[in-house]
Order: sequence, then structure tokens, then C-alpha cells
Amino acid sequence: MEKRPIGRFAPTPSGRMHLGNVFAALLSWLSPKSQGGGWILRMEDLDTLRTRAEYAELLRDDLRWLGLHWDEETQPQSQRSAVYDRYFEQLRDLGLLYPCYCTRSQLHNVNAPHLSDGTYVYPGTCRDLSPEAQKAFGRAPAWRLRVPDRVWQLTDLAQGEFVQNLATDCGDFVVRRADGVYVYQLAVTVDDGEAGVTEVVRGMDLLSSAPRQMYLQELFGFSHPEYGHVPMLLAPDGRRLSKRDRDLDLGELRKR
Ligand code: GLU
Repeated sequence: MEKRPIGRFAPTPSGRMHLGNVFAALLSWLSPKSQGGGWILRMEDLDTLRTRAEYAELLRDDLRWLGLHWDEETQPQSQRSAVYDRYFEQLRDLGLLYPCYCTRSQLHNVNAPHLSDGTYVYPGTCRDLSPEAQKAFGRAPAWRLRVPDRVWQLTDLAQGEFVQNLATDCGDFVVRRADGVYVYQLAVTVDDGEAGVTEVVRGMDLLSSAPRQMYLQELFGFSHPEYGHVPMLLAPDGRRLSKRDRDLDLGELRKR
């Protein structure tokens, strides 16, 4: 039997939605709804310094105002670290994690190509450190996931064929930061997987994240959703719209 399509909108409540967010929300709603499916809302508030409950409330209010009603709101990411711990332990038990002590500036000084989202190809500096060398750092490490030398391929609903080899295009990636906060890639995979999401429609800026999420889905035993990465709206000067710059935000648009 075909699974009932489940889509989702997973905003970061770090400001008022702008027109670009609305565009992505609308398409993520339309796709499952046009097939008799469901639409889930999830607040991605892992970054507790940048996100605020007031913004989450405004987001809900704006979605209601637009007539985009969600079937369920799943638990916000800030409340799920115990759940992420369990998945983190699975990766550790598989022997796929190692502690990384590289500083941000070390990583940026590495002369390596990077993905469109600003990710540097990690050169594997901490991959094979001895336990003594690890201890010598005397501070809490970030945790990286080893990636296989293998090509990931997806047929994006909006962008067509997309191919990435995590080993050469991304390198081993961080799943938990040194301060204990889980990263987006792990949280989003766990949340979408547990909620039974079958299609992920979101901004084009996240296309290069899809293979990392597909790798994690495989390790956690979730099926791959369909992906659709939609164009980003631009400001008149060619910049991407941003919440920080308060570009065409819903506050302004609703006033008009
Ligand atoms: N939270 C991300 C954002 O607001 C979206 C993540 C996703 O859809 O996977 O840009």
C-alpha cells in the first residue's frame, strides 16, 4: 500500500518569516495536501541563543493568517536532546564517531573546496588520534561521523538529479558540538524519521545537506523521503532574503 504523504515545515524561529519562507512553506504544504496527505510543523530551535518563543508564536500566527493549517506540531528541537542522545549512542556503538579538537580557525585555514552552504571538506585531522593525543587537549571535543567513499544520488522534485560523494565533497561531519548541542543534520534526520515524513520540500540552500541526511537515515533505519528544493527569493539587490535584515517580513506585508 502507498504511504500517505507527510510533508513538513521546519522553520527556525529566529525572526519573523519573510516572503521567501512563506514561499517554501506554501510549497511544502501544497505538495502533500494535493495528494490527500498531512503537513507537520516543527520549530527548529536548537540554537537557543538565536531563537525565541515569541518568534515561534508569531510564526504560528502568520501561518494561520495565511490559511496554512498544520495537522500536528511535533516537539521543538530544544526539548529533544535526550532523544538525540539515543541516536548519538547508536552511531558511537557502530564505531563511526570520533572526537575532534579542531578549532574554527584551523578549519577555515584549510585550503579545501567547500559546499554551497559554506561547509569545508574536513581533511580528517582528528580521525586517527591516539587516546593519549586526545587526552592531551584537555577539553571537550566535538564529535564527527566518519563518512564512506560512496556516491549519493537523488532525484529532486524541483532540481532533478543531484549527486554527491560525502568523502570528497564534505568529509567527516560534526554531529555534536563541543558544548553538547546536537547539530542540525542529526536533529532533522531524527525528527523527520520519527514523524514519518515522506517528503521534504524546503529552500534550495539545503540541497547539499540532503546526502548527509540520507546517510544518517540509512544508519538509523529510516526510509529516504522524497526531496524538493525550491528556489530562494532574492532582494532587489540580488541578496538572499534574510530574517536578520527583516526583508519583506510578514509584519510589513500584513500591515499593507
Ligand atoms: N530550519 C531550517 C530553516 O529555517 C530548515 C530546515 C529544513 O527544512 O530541513 O532554514
